[in-house]
Amino acid sequence: MDTVREFTPDMQAFYSRHLMLSGFGFEAQGRMSAATAAVVGLGGLGCPAVSLLAAAGVGSLRLIDPDVVDMSNVLRQGLYLSRDAGKLKAQVAVERVNIINDTVKATAIPRPFEPDYLEGCDIVLDCTDNMASREAIARAARRVGIPVVHGAAVGYEGRMAVFEAAAAPCLGCLLPDNATADSCGESGVFAPITAVVGSWMAAEAIKRITGIGTSPAGLVVYDGLSGVFHEFEIRRDPNCRICGDAKIREVSVPTISVAELAKKLNAREDFVLLDVREVHELAISRIDPCVHIPMNEVLWKSCDLPTSAEICVLCRTGNRSGTITQALRLRGFTNVRNVAGGINAYAQQIDPSMKTY
Ligand SMILES: [Zn+2]
Repeated sequence: MDTVREFTPDMQAFYSRHLMLSGFGFEAQGRMSAATAAVVGLGGLGCPAVSLLAAAGVGSLRLIDPDVVDMSNVLRQGLYLSRDAGKLKAQVAVERVNIINDTVKATAIPRPFEPDYLEGCDIVLDCTDNMASREAIARAARRVGIPVVHGAAVGYEGRMAVFEAAAAPCLGCLLPDNATADSCGESGVFAPITAVVGSWMAAEAIKRITGIGTSPAGLVVYDGLSGVFHEFEIRRDPNCRICGDAKIREVSVPTISVAELAKKLNAREDFVLLDVREVHELAISRIDPCVHIPMNEVLWKSCDLPTSAEICVLCRTGNRSGTITQALRLRGFTNVRNVAGGINAYAQQIDPSMKTY
């Protein structure tokens, strides 16, 4: 393949500082053009990662985040300006990518993460800040066989690790299933830390795509207060809920059909219908009575639910609620079921007056 010819003189000028790097060249740049990367979470880590991946010429970017820009984001989330407040992050991010490098095909996915979004991707950058999404990304990436670049930034500390597709250890080995991801919304974050980690994640992703260099085998922690990096070994956990051998960890996800759910609702049975969609999705369709806790908050708020309660978990199509059903079962909830097909199936089969989306 004559990769040189694929690049116009303008593109060669644009990428010149990478092309002149030892070991990079047109071949590596060609691999960049052919690659698809998913970035989940377009906050403090996602913003620098996206702008660097776009500038470096990754062929396709899938930008996944259900949130809108908040004024408090602008301090550390460099893709957004104050005037973007209230707009969907994924859409603003796509606009900015088009400005940075219009040869990149960027797609906005302004919805919570679902495993299908990784189909056809070469790599995923986990820039989220909650355990439910992190686990869902780790499981989905293993299933489609792509590496996960993991990053976190809370307080004055940054963390980065690259988890291989097929090999252990994985995120589940690193974080026990009762871990709660720290959230910068609760603990604060020193803004430059997010830029360090997000840029670092982009570097690892570009290296993986182009085949240049190696990634650290363990977890690397950046102590922003001392300015020092430390690397820690991640040991494989044979009982890991994601990559472990023990079948006990393969917690099945019991389901309930929408017909059974309708029967329970009609009979006014005593159970909790837990809707884990985002607030704007409930405006489209909802089943009452329900308890609404968005997916990203369920694991923090699960202590509000009695572990003995009968819970049916609902989302749009059954993917997110399946992840939450499994996570709740791992946390000791014994009577939890996933509503198969989600609220769209309910609308199609039970209540055609409801909207699907
Ligand atoms: Zn593992």
